[in-house]
Amino acid sequence: MAREQAQYCTQTMTNDESLSMQNHYDVLIIGAGLSGVGTACRLAEEMPEAKVGLIERRKAIGGTWDLFRYPGIRSDSDMFSFGYSFRPWNELKVLADGTAIRNYITDTAREYGIERKVQFGLKTTDASWSSEERQWRVTCLEEETGQTREFTCQYLISCTGYYNYDEGFLPEFPGSERFQGLQIHPQHWPENLDYSGKRVVIIGSGATAVTLVPAMAKDAEHVTMLQRSPSYVFSVPGYDKLSAFLRRFLPERFVYGMARKRNIVMQRLIYKASKAFPGMVRSYLLRGVRKQVGDQVDMRHFTPRYMPWDERICAVPDADLFKVLKQGKASVVTDQIDTFTEKGILLKSGEHLQADIIITATGLKLQTCGGMALKVDGEEKHLNKLMTYKGSMLQDIPNMGFVFGYTNAPWTLKVDLTASFLCRLFNYMKQNQLDVVMPKAPEGQLMADETVLGSLQSGYIQRAQNLLPRQGRGLPWRVLHSYEDDQKMLLNQSVEDANLEFRRA
Ligand SMILES: Cc1cc2nc3c(=O)[nH]c(=O)nc-3n(C[C@H](O)[C@H](O)[C@H](O)COP(=O)(O)OP(=O)(O)OC[C@H]3O[C@@H](n4cnc5c(N)ncnc54)[C@H](O)[C@@H]3O)c2cc1C
Repeated sequence: MAREQAQYCTQTMTNDESLSMQNHYDVLIIGAGLSGVGTACRLAEEMPEAKVGLIERRKAIGGTWDLFRYPGIRSDSDMFSFGYSFRPWNELKVLADGTAIRNYITDTAREYGIERKVQFGLKTTDASWSSEERQWRVTCLEEETGQTREFTCQYLISCTGYYNYDEGFLPEFPGSERFQGLQIHPQHWPENLDYSGKRVVIIGSGATAVTLVPAMAKDAEHVTMLQRSPSYVFSVPGYDKLSAFLRRFLPERFVYGMARKRNIVMQRLIYKASKAFPGMVRSYLLRGVRKQVGDQVDMRHFTPRYMPWDERICAVPDADLFKVLKQGKASVVTDQIDTFTEKGILLKSGEHLQADIIITATGLKLQTCGGMALKVDGEEKHLNKLMTYKGSMLQDIPNMGFVFGYTNAPWTLKVDLTASFLCRLFNYMKQNQLDVVMPKAPEGQLMADETVLGSLQSGYIQRAQNLLPRQGRGLPWRVLHSYEDDQKMLLNQSVEDANLEFRRA
């Protein structure tokens, strides 16, 4: 019936009107990664009648899990809680590899009919809200042809992740132009790179470096992880034996639900314990490393200067990193770079690391809203001057969802809460004939000197202080970084709120 109506409308319209109808959406999502697909699935469930579209710059679904192709690429969150709550992760590997995650997102998109709603190869460059038209105008660049396309929508949702896809973060290393071997950033891994028998130096100590070391050590002559300062690394079981056992006599979905709940509770306990008893958690983590590495590895390489969860903790499956260190296939050096040389890296201590390949696992360059310019009635809005409302919308920006996951827990836990909240809000507006909603901070609500990422001290977060939206001092302008509290705020609290300004249709 709906299709017949649409066909009828198109026949009686002019070509221009029909084209603009085709390019108009009730909800337009920017980005088809884990967040964009998850949000679109929620919308499909909770607002089945809404016309939803997704704009994706790349040629494929998956975002991070399509872009990053370095050896060993995997999640460092367990997949039971990193996967979608509405679609079980049915494998028993705890940390999944990039291909498995990419397939999981693509399969979810297919199953929920999202794939056909995505327009690929379009980079959103501008989004302008018009109060007169009561809609967004979104401009996209087809990078292959240089042509632009325009879309309109009632609601815009940014699911663009948090970093720049064009380039990773690369500090200036003195003499880097002198190095005669290959220099690679993990964000742009060359296809079919053969590193067998090569001496590899990996600069970095984060999740990417600790993943690359054991993966490359299998074939390389030797891998050295060169770090300026150590991170917390802890080993998790690579395989969920308990779920494997329970699956023999309980339904898969039930076992998945239990594993998810268990892992969420465990992560929250570890995080809270790290904040309440940092010294105890630190000793526990360091004892774990000592047990794994034995006497062969100097513990100073794994003894950070900061307390657990002041920066993210790196998980490694089945102690794979520690195993290659013990076997001597890889080593860790904690030192500072003096200069790159023709044949490697000279350290401040005077030691020279010989290398055929240097991998700069130096991190991400943060970016919000995929670099698009946001305007409201012609006025440009800068995210670093705005607070977030419930961590899900932006101050003074009408009809826009801002989807940004957790950094102290699996990203998707927050994404799903935000998507559910936005569906509730949009449905409430429809039922009450409201068509504009704008978060408006009451007088006296002061901006805190903190970004949405809160107190994490990781380098990439510190570098992005001038880019990220801010927090307020009180709710709902504070970002809680707490799954339990966000559940209450985003799923249970009424959407009617003095901090939201509505306009009647
Ligand atoms: C190597 C790596 C490992 C990670 N592992 C974990 C982990 O284990 N656990 C965890 O919680 N988090 C992890 N993260 C963080 C991770 O990025 C998120 O968990 C999650 O994948 C983010 O999903 P997303 O859809 O929000 O963003 P992304 O995956 O970044 O997807 C954003 C999408 O938006 C598109 N896009 C961006 N800008 C535009 C634009 N202007 N126009 C059109 N399209 C645009 C991009 O092309 C992309 O497809 C990891 C990150 C990296 C880099």
